[in-house]
Amino acid sequence: MTYTVPERIRQLYDQVSDFVEDRIIPQEKLLLDETSPESESIRAQLMNEAKEEGLWALGHPESMGGGGLSWLDYAYINEVIGRSDPAMNILGTYSVQTCVMIDAVADEWQRENVLLPAVRGEHHVAFAVTEPGAASSDPTNITTTAYLDGDEWVVDGRKWYTSGATTSEWLCVMCRTEGEDVPRHHRFSMILVPSEAEGFHVERDIFVMGTHSNHPECSYRDVRVPKGYLLGKRGGGFELFQTRLAPARLTNCMRWIGQAQRAFDLMCNRINTRELRDGALLATKQLMQFYVYQSYTEIQAARLMVLDAAEKMDQGSQGRVEISAAKTYAANMLQSVLDRAIQVHGALGVCDDTPLERMYRFARIYRIVDGPDEVHIERVGKEILKIYRDGGRWGFSER
Ligand SMILES: Cc1cc2nc3c(=O)[nH]c(=O)nc-3n(C[C@H](O)[C@H](O)[C@H](O)COP(=O)(O)OP(=O)(O)OC[C@H]3O[C@@H](n4cnc5c(N)ncnc54)[C@H](O)[C@@H]3O)c2cc1C
Repeated sequence: MTYTVPERIRQLYDQVSDFVEDRIIPQEKLLLDETSPESESIRAQLMNEAKEEGLWALGHPESMGGGGLSWLDYAYINEVIGRSDPAMNILGTYSVQTCVMIDAVADEWQRENVLLPAVRGEHHVAFAVTEPGAASSDPTNITTTAYLDGDEWVVDGRKWYTSGATTSEWLCVMCRTEGEDVPRHHRFSMILVPSEAEGFHVERDIFVMGTHSNHPECSYRDVRVPKGYLLGKRGGGFELFQTRLAPARLTNCMRWIGQAQRAFDLMCNRINTRELRDGALLATKQLMQFYVYQSYTEIQAARLMVLDAAEKMDQGSQGRVEISAAKTYAANMLQSVLDRAIQVHGALGVCDDTPLERMYRFARIYRIVDGPDEVHIERVGKEILKIYRDGGRWGFSER
């Protein structure tokens, strides 16, 4: 375990860092402006530059054409990418979790036609589990169904918050395919649906925390797809879902550390320069120093948890406790670090002259996506208590 950027990726780290700081952040406002006609062409231009400079899809496995970084090395790189929201798309990292999931089970056709173009950024694959009518924190509650009719799957149901669905060519749709006679966790299958399929509709855009961020509600009415569009095994949807979740949670945490670093930089610079009466700086106030202390300890603790979880993943462990703990801790950390950074900026903190207010709105979302806090807290508690019940212990320095 190393806590600072390892020498082996130092050059890459600097390159990504320069790309994000010098080319993405100066264009950030434009890139995030949903009404700007220029933003798409700027994004496309930056994507090409990232590809030409070997900075594309660095966290995707080499076997699918990605950079092949270990999770631990990727943690450092993705932290830098996380500093600016548009960087995730521009550097091609957005799809890593879905690609890892598809790669685990794809047949040759699915690999050539769905997976590899997604890695190359030629098309998008959305992931559709959550439903408006079902408590989807537990995906075994979902009600979208699929049945086999001859050589075709017929899909019926309604999903929402399918991120990217409006601009995706494919959707991985979690469907109930098995009956009550099958154990609960084996009743679901993942089915590939092309967005052009008859019966698939994007019903409405959802306005989320002040933005149209492409997380729409979608309906599936008698959508027919070939039998071969089943991803993995019939009844294996829940298991497959798990292969996506661990990388999704971990890569998000990495980016949140980067956002927290950016907020911390802004906060410290503001505290050091804002003058009060008679030229005294904010930095002379103990409450300001306390904000720095609290933010420092929370960011550092979250970083170490994320690095630890990444190392566990590299070792082939599921890291259930480590990933759930890191996900919940990092999401809460980001929210409180941003809250303090906004506070010390006063009125400047709540307007869009700094990136803080937008980051703050999005940070609130992170405590819900990929499993809400409560579900992860419950898992950590249950897993650790089970070890003690079985006569073992959670030795922090032994794991
Ligand atoms: C911006 C955004 C993007 C998203 N992108 C996607 C996507 O691309 N694909 C997709 O499928 N989904 C996506 N989601 C959905 C997200 O994963 C779900 O919202 C999340 O899993 C929670 O499901 P739910 O909303 O149905 O909440 P529910 O399951 O109804 O839970 C609501 C609340 O109940 C409490 N709760 C739930 N379970 C427990 C428990 N066991 N113990 C104690 N309390 C509990 C928690 O406070 C929880 O927040 C996205 C969501 C957002 C906000």
